[in-house]
Amino acid sequence: MCYAIPGRVKAFEGKYITVDYFGEERRAVNELSGLALGDYVYAQGGFVITKVSAREAELTLETWKDLFFELQAIDEKSVAISPWSGKKYEHVRGFMDRILAGGKITREETRYLLGVTSSGEKEFLFSAANYLRQQHHKNSCCVHGIIEISNTCVEGCHYCGISSFHKALVRYRMSKDEILEAVRSAVEDHGFKALVLQSAEDPGRSVDELVDIITEIKQRFGVLIFISFGEIGLQGLERLYAAGARGLLLRFETSNPGLYAKFHPGSSWDERIAHIKKANELGYLIVTGSLIGLPGQTLDDLARDIELAGELNVEMLSMGPFLPHPATPLAHMPSPSVEDVAQVLAVARFTLDPDVKILVTTGFETLSLEARRIGLMAGANSVMLNVTPVDKRALYNIYPGRAHQDDTIDAQIQGTIKMLEGLGRAPTDLSVGQDDN
Ligand code: SF4
Repeated sequence: MCYAIPGRVKAFEGKYITVDYFGEERRAVNELSGLALGDYVYAQGGFVITKVSAREAELTLETWKDLFFELQAIDEKSVAISPWSGKKYEHVRGFMDRILAGGKITREETRYLLGVTSSGEKEFLFSAANYLRQQHHKNSCCVHGIIEISNTCVEGCHYCGISSFHKALVRYRMSKDEILEAVRSAVEDHGFKALVLQSAEDPGRSVDELVDIITEIKQRFGVLIFISFGEIGLQGLERLYAAGARGLLLRFETSNPGLYAKFHPGSSWDERIAHIKKANELGYLIVTGSLIGLPGQTLDDLARDIELAGELNVEMLSMGPFLPHPATPLAHMPSPSVEDVAQVLAVARFTLDPDVKILVTTGFETLSLEARRIGLMAGANSVMLNVTPVDKRALYNIYPGRAHQDDTIDAQIQGTIKMLEGLGRAPTDLSVGQDDN
């Protein structure tokens, strides 16, 4: 099973190549040597990650050929049934028309959309966000895998179940061999083309070790690597980019420095933002965002969160619900509703650059079994599957009852593909690199 389809190299232009997918052209940064016109490649996140033989590519494309257009038709139909005419909900409609004409909405308008309470207007907002998603990204849906390599954390975030507050938790740190085997299995057995390696803030693993691991993954596997190791230092970011990492997943958690300081004692909001900015300068694809429903958070904070993600050149937005763990000081505080989270994702689709991908987080899926479908129909176009070895997953206990905690990788893949096909989404990464000069 593949999570991207091969494309054919159609043109070269400096470090970029143009790749053709069934007549649709996308640009990608090429770091491979020896590519020629007519070769087949897999590209992810705007980077060529590997060349593929003509035979393998043609077999894959043959399988996809009819399905690709069938899925597009289902997706187009899903947006065509929305109530686009009439003067109902004229604010939402007006914002949508402006965005479709290439304009933007203001922070006050973002704030307005976040404050919509009538169920009819919300439903219209979700449908409109889905329409905007479809207009720009067509039916592509990124499916990345995530491997949680360590749950050992020295930080004391006031809601996190693997923080230093959770004294009873058994801690683990996967060895290099365990990590390489998990990557091998994800890439070779299951066909993942993009993987996130995630760790808590674990001082027990040095940057040198991480560089060694990333270097070996890069040499052995054709996969786009995102790192998510917390604040590993600006120099650490440089060294890991040089080793082959091309994406950074680091949430800023909240755009409000006061709120950040309250719930992340000993951590610096400025330092966190500096990491994201540095990663952007280095050329990493940025996955960032915040918590929805943090105690004391206002709608103005949320509007600013979305705006800040845009300023940080977010490639994929990761905004998920506040889910406090029972072993933490905020255990008694409520989480937002499924509808609240969907509304934030929909508003982000209105506010951010149209290129931005929006993730349905595992946290959101933990709120509801239906969250993935709800999010994808409210402007989102990305999901992550947990490919951590099953015996470690329960220990990466950031909040209780995490979705898919005990599902095998095969079960997650089958469930995801079935759900995506039902919505007319193709698990590909086609909407890449169109204007990344
Ligand atoms: S949120 Fe991250 S840094 Fe904070 S305690 Fe949890 S794993 Fe550690």
